[in-house]
Amino acid sequence: MGGPIIVPRSAHNISRNGISENALKVLYRLKGAGYAAYLVGGGVRDLLLELHPKDFDIVTDAHPEQVRHLFRNCHLVGRRFRLAHVRFGRDIIEVATFRGVANGGSDDREHSDSGRILRDNVYGTLDEDIWRRDFTVNALYYNIADFSIVDYTTGMEDIRNRAMRLIGDPEQRYREDPVRMLRAVRLAVKLDFTIAPESAAPIRTLGGLLAEVPPARLFDELLKLFQAGHAVRSFEMLAHYDLLRYLFPGTAAYLAGPDGSRVAAFIKAGLGTTDERVRANKPITPMFLFAILLWPEISGRAAELEAAGDSASRALVVAALEVVAHQQALTALPRRFSSPMVEMLAMQARLVKTRGTRAQRLLGQKLFRAAYDFLLLRSRCGAVDPAVVEWWTNLQALPSEEQREVLEEQGPARRRGGRRRRGGRRRAPAGGATP
Ligand code: ATP
Ligand code: MG
Repeated sequence: MGGPIIVPRSAHNISRNGISENALKVLYRLKGAGYAAYLVGGGVRDLLLELHPKDFDIVTDAHPEQVRHLFRNCHLVGRRFRLAHVRFGRDIIEVATFRGVANGGSDDREHSDSGRILRDNVYGTLDEDIWRRDFTVNALYYNIADFSIVDYTTGMEDIRNRAMRLIGDPEQRYREDPVRMLRAVRLAVKLDFTIAPESAAPIRTLGGLLAEVPPARLFDELLKLFQAGHAVRSFEMLAHYDLLRYLFPGTAAYLAGPDGSRVAAFIKAGLGTTDERVRANKPITPMFLFAILLWPEISGRAAELEAAGDSASRALVVAALEVVAHQQALTALPRRFSSPMVEMLAMQARLVKTRGTRAQRLLGQKLFRAAYDFLLLRSRCGAVDPAVVEWWTNLQALPSEEQREVLEEQGPARRRGGRRRRGGRRRAPAGGATP
């Protein structure tokens, strides 16, 4: 690679007004102490695209200890690579020291058998630091000394052409860190970029490397893919690159099966509501997200268990627990999300059957609203009788006094049928094998 392109202040659109006050303070303090200091990564990229950056990352030639001495509110984190965190109330500015590619000519980074980097802790220079970046558009450095942008790759050109392009040999870069495949998809969707052909080509064959990634890291990346307001497009692009089968193998199998288009329609409808909620600033939860993504497999397994004699609600619980156990090993799903998810899915069986005074108890449960929303989603995809949903919709719309009246009127009917009544008049059609 030759020398960098230096884009002077007059030739780009990044103004200090777009940079957070705290990030500027850190940049100026480093500069004042005689160090090089640059803004880098998604912050620079987003400013060039006239988006609002989520965070601002800074790199410097000061070593972490030196950074720490410059700020009172600073502590060092990270074992694999020491970083300085400068804290301003709730805002944390991350300051990294330029990372080198090699030490004394030999690459001392530790690699796993498939090439994944396990440890690299060597300081370096700006031109070496680009190798710890993934895409060219993430490797643009905004220099606080003269407000220019330093471009060692084709970052500026790729910003103009709206292309995600890996730096270096794509296959090697994916092997070093397979999460880059998911980042390629996520950032292409978020920025409305395309993945450059050479960077896209290896993804279909290398997807299996995701199995090596720690499940907790995949979980974090999944939340970024599906909770940023672009869940439907993320899902479509993951499907396009055949990555779903490494993330949600059970669901991917249903998508590839005879009922695939119905399964896809259900998931997209669910993710669509998630996107709408993000856009409307309404709260969203991984509990509901994973319920959507795992439902094809859970409902399929539950149907088998039910056919073998389990009750509908027991089948759902057992199926959900089985699927969650598999999923844990792949992408993690913290208990605080999986437990309510299982409970909420088990409620699906009760929602299609329960009437009378027991309905009131369901209505009072903490997860009722989520379970109702999920039922609504299923009915929109034709898996639940709309009359069942309508019954709950109408019931909720009543003042609680009238709710009681309605339910008490229906009470005797339930009692006549006995507590374990099956297939009674009011029993709605159950969910079925697929959504
Ligand atoms: P976002 O808009 O989601 O914040 P981002 O590109 O800023 O996107 P971060 O996770 O904040 O993503 O990472 C900051 C920067 O660190 C990136 O722009 C990139 O330069 C570098 N980086 C992050 N993850 C990787 C990775 N897996 N491999 C190489 N470089 C990475
Ligand atoms: Mg970022």
